[in-house]
Amino acid sequence: MSRIIGIDLGTTNTCTAFVSNKIPRVIPTESGFNTMPSVVTFHPDGTVLVGQAAKEQMLTYPERTLHGIKRLLGRQGSSRTVQELRGYFSYKIVTGEKGLAAVEVGGKIHTCDEIQSHILKQIRRYAEINLGEDIPDVVIAVPAYYSDQQRALVKRAGSLAGWNVKRIVNEPTAAALAYGFNRGFDQKILIYDLGGGTFDVSILEITGNVFQVVASGGDMFLGGSDFDARIQDWILDMLRKQYKVELDDDPAALQRVRSAAERAKIELSLLANTEIRLPALVERRGKSIDVNMVLDRDTLNSLTEDLVGRTISVIDRLLEDCHIGKHEIEEVIPVGGQTRMPLVVDAITSHFNRSPRKGIHPDECVALGAALLGDSLAKIDAVTLLDTLSVPLGVSDRNGKLKVLIDRNVRLPHKASMDIATQTDNQTVLELDVYQGESEIPVQSAEYLGTLIYADIPPAPATTVKVNIEMLLDAEGMLSITASNNQSGAPKKITLTTVERPTNDDSLEERRGPGVVPPEPSSGLKGLVRSLWSKK
Ligand code: AMP
Repeated sequence: MSRIIGIDLGTTNTCTAFVSNKIPRVIPTESGFNTMPSVVTFHPDGTVLVGQAAKEQMLTYPERTLHGIKRLLGRQGSSRTVQELRGYFSYKIVTGEKGLAAVEVGGKIHTCDEIQSHILKQIRRYAEINLGEDIPDVVIAVPAYYSDQQRALVKRAGSLAGWNVKRIVNEPTAAALAYGFNRGFDQKILIYDLGGGTFDVSILEITGNVFQVVASGGDMFLGGSDFDARIQDWILDMLRKQYKVELDDDPAALQRVRSAAERAKIELSLLANTEIRLPALVERRGKSIDVNMVLDRDTLNSLTEDLVGRTISVIDRLLEDCHIGKHEIEEVIPVGGQTRMPLVVDAITSHFNRSPRKGIHPDECVALGAALLGDSLAKIDAVTLLDTLSVPLGVSDRNGKLKVLIDRNVRLPHKASMDIATQTDNQTVLELDVYQGESEIPVQSAEYLGTLIYADIPPAPATTVKVNIEMLLDAEGMLSITASNNQSGAPKKITLTTVERPTNDDSLEERRGPGVVPPEPSSGLKGLVRSLWSKK
């Protein structure tokens, strides 16, 4: 039996691990690093650079160097999330196939799963060189909040890289495995995962080798890059005041400032102050300007304390939601590079009255846990994972708000079943938009997963046909849907279809449609969901 390796396909860095003699170990890159930057450059000469080589092109080819793709993967190009992310990245984000966010480089459109597959191919290469064997199977960790669609695309990226993705595992669950596998614990832990782009928090109960997710939540717009942005703004402000320089129209200079900001932040995790040097940053009146400034830890802390405070508020809300007291948490496991910041360590320590668990490598534990899971898949019942849905799943209600059908934190696998009666005489088609997002938010802010179209309704008077829809979320959070009706035909498997939807707020009326689509004339969605969705 060949071994199954574990991969943490991170926003910023990717890490890979395998298990040897029951011990999980990181597989180093060819240059000997334990992680590889999750960066891909489409060089003008046609070569595709991946990892460190690509990261080095960030300044020279900011529009061709793709990073943070994990945040765009599987999201609608028109979604708010993607609109906001446009401001973060120097490369061109477009709407590609099926309305999904894609990237345009040199006039060519690349899908996000294709870009992720370049990263995975590179990993595959160095893993096989390192282990000296063919590795057909992998376990890939994904954020707990990833939608069904995003999970499917990660699997696709894996297969484009030539792998069988044996299992998708949630990152916090993998981190918990790295901490507690085979240790005989009986405790509640909290995974505090502050990475490059997102903050995720999960509470797990570990009983022996049973890992049960009690609840998870987070903030998809809070991560290391927000800390960098605060420093970047501080530098830009100083440039304006001290050097009378504006960089707005100079992407290369801005990229240099962004890199310097991140470097300063990382240095300030170790040092009390750091020098930011940007020689020949810009030219003014034909003279190049060298920039030198000092940033100290106290200033960094005051620039970013509200960001750290937001992580604590997310935790408090989650604890409150699941009626768990702070004192019940026996360990806080730090995951993600940003947890190395002393301010983060201090905030956790003072909030929980205990310091975050030491000895866990925040950049490696997810990959180590995924490898442990991969290893245990070959063995019967070595480990039991009881995961939950972290973002509710639902449809649009008649006010354009998300009506939740499967709530957050339900145990996976989970099946929801509902009956929908036809609204009009001779209605033959039922059409519903499916979303993942928080309850009650406008659907524009939720993640559109696709449209469920059921066209097998026999013509009959209104309300006489009931369509039964069953949604199954499996243990990996993958969604499958079947529909049947009470008059004819066998249950039918339904794949969500992408239907172009208007996105701005003014178009809410249109967005509410089409819901149940009668043959003609169209009556839109009004009044539809009000009476129709009822959980069995
Ligand atoms: P991850 O997505 O887990 O790889 O986390 C990457 C984020 O962690 C980036 O925003 C890095 O700038 C940040 N990071 C890495 N090392 C440190 C450090 N020593 N101190 C503060 N932030 C760090």
